[in-house]
Order: sequence, then C-alpha cells, then structure tokens
Amino acid sequence: MGLLDAGITKHNVLVTSVDNVLNWARLSSIWPMGFGLACCAIEMMATNASNYDLERFGIFPRSSPRQSDLMIVAGTVTMKMAERVVRLYEQMPEPRYVLSMGSCSNCGGPYWEHGYHVLKGVDRVIPVDVYVPGCPPRPEALIGGLMKIQELIRMEQIGLSRADALKKLAEKSVDP
Ligand code: SF4
Repeated sequence: MGLLDAGITKHNVLVTSVDNVLNWARLSSIWPMGFGLACCAIEMMATNASNYDLERFGIFPRSSPRQSDLMIVAGTVTMKMAERVVRLYEQMPEPRYVLSMGSCSNCGGPYWEHGYHVLKGVDRVIPVDVYVPGCPPRPEALIGGLMKIQELIRMEQIGLSRADALKKLAEKSVDP
C-alpha cells in the first residue's frame, strides 16, 4: 500500500532531508566483514548468534570486503596480519567504518610491552572510528560499539567531514 493509498499524504506534510533518509537507510543495514583475528573473535561470533540477535538492528556479516561497509577488528593484529588488514580495508567500498574490538586491537593489549610481533594498535595502519575496550569485550559491549557506529552514521551530513562527525559524537557521548 503506497503513502497516497494509506491517506498519509492527504492531510499531512512530510518534512525531512535527503541526509536523514539516506543515513537512516545506511544505519539500518550495516554489513560487517566476517573475519576475526584471535580470541575476541569468539565473542564477536557469539554476538552474531541467536542469543544476541544482531539482525534485529539490521546488522549482518558478509563474506567479502567488497560487500562490507564495516570492519570489526576483533583480536590481535600481528605484524604479518597488519598488511592483510590494510589490503582488506582498501577493498571495502566508501563510506566504510572501522570498529576496533578489544585491548589487542586498541593498543596491543597483553603484548604491549614485550610483543615484538604485535602491532600496538590497528589505528597505526587504518583509521578507527570506534574503540571497544575489554579483554575480551562481552557481546553487550560490542553491541554498544555498533550503536556508536549507527550514531555516527546518523550524524553524517553532506559537506561534514568524518572527523567533524566523530567530534560531534564524542561531545554527545560526554556526560554533562
Ligand atoms: Fe584475546 Fe584479550 Fe587480545 Fe581479545 S584483547 S584478542 S581476548 S588477548
């Protein structure tokens, strides 16, 4: 049934902007790339399972970076793997987002001091939009991070840079 059939436009005026409609569509259908690096990936898989049901948010993993708009870096990024992470990131179409899940991906985690083979934060090789702390973070924490990605998408406007949108998100996230 169309809007006219439903009588919605007969007595009402719908006011919105192209930004809002596009953002709503994008944040309601996020496609994370389905790949994991270490133990954090187990929690990411649990988040995708029926108990937490990510599909209710329109979030469903894809098997190819070319079909994904979100990379969840879940686990330890070794020096060897870092090059592959960058390659996968570059294969994702714009606009794309990165969520860093867990201490290893955020800053090297338990390998911070002596792990010569571990990158001390995936943001050294690709830009990260949202960091989720924990070792490993629970599914609830990952869902919280995904909600932040959705908030970020909601704030994006034509002509507003990603950096400015992130700044607005950070300001909004600070408790008064
Ligand atoms: Fe494993 Fe902890 Fe590193 Fe996650 S942050 S990959 S749980 S060691």
